[in-house]
Amino acid sequence: MRAVVRVYVVRVSPNDSEPTTRHEPRTTDHEPRTTDIPASDTLSEAAPVSDLYANAAARPTESSGQSPVFLARDITKVYNMGEVAVHALRGISLDLFEAEFLVLLGPSGSGKSTLLNILGGLDVPTSGTVTYRGQSLTSADERALTMYRRKHVGFVFQFYNLIPSLTARENVALVTDIVDRPMAPAEALKLVKLGDRLDHFPSQLSGGEQQRVAIARAVAKRPDVLLCDEPTGALDIATGILVLEAIQRVNRELGTTTAVITHNAAVAGMADRVVSLSDGRILSERRNEKKLAPSELTW
Ligand code: ADP
Repeated sequence: MRAVVRVYVVRVSPNDSEPTTRHEPRTTDHEPRTTDIPASDTLSEAAPVSDLYANAAARPTESSGQSPVFLARDITKVYNMGEVAVHALRGISLDLFEAEFLVLLGPSGSGKSTLLNILGGLDVPTSGTVTYRGQSLTSADERALTMYRRKHVGFVFQFYNLIPSLTARENVALVTDIVDRPMAPAEALKLVKLGDRLDHFPSQLSGGEQQRVAIARAVAKRPDVLLCDEPTGALDIATGILVLEAIQRVNRELGTTTAVITHNAAVAGMADRVVSLSDGRILSERRNEKKLAPSELTW
């Protein structure tokens, strides 16, 4: 029987001590043996990284009590599409702090999703390093990244990806079944103000309600970080505000470190910090002295 196994080749760069991992799918003629696959479920400690804040005003202060969750340094991502190399990220350095609400702003194609996917362990950079609470994501193998995503990261995407044949409560329960300390599905749905829609199927819910089920599903496992990719992209303004309120409540009430991608500049008003991307680079970074409530946003 032919089976495809992934072989992990760890190489150490001659210039530093940071190991990097290449994932090379290979075709073999035997069943995968346990020795083919490294058994690491955890991330490894990363080397210390330098402070990136040349702009002192953008640096979260000691008095704010924040400590870093992510440290990303000099991240590049190149997609090789045959003859053409697409430079999605061209050297991004970014920190994300405990309980922070970060908005990543930029036009379509500026690299926002690529960056979010790298922070969420869905993708790996071509070069650069990313640490999550001092542990390296960039030298982690796929199994460790899977465990990292499962335990620590909640994702919300533009399209809700709910299972049509399951109720709101059952869609959330799918996730709570595979983690250690989940919230009850009904509790998660109450948090997004859907306590009265527990037994509705997706087809019986509006787009905004479906997105709030998706948020409940993401937060029911009590993730450390919530990563949202254009969560209001498919919604009208009024519905989008309800979805943003749900995300804000998670950030405030659970203290979940939150990053929201948007091309809609109005959303930036509700962030602690706004990072604008353009053509794979950070164009600007600012902190909001006064944060707006989602209902105060206009677009
Ligand atoms: P944004 O989220 O800001 O719209 P993306 O991160 O999705 O930007 O994309 C940045 C660039 O990388 C775009 O030019 C896009 O076409 C390209 N890109 C993204 N993902 C892939 C992929 N899997 N393969 C090839 N090119 C990609």
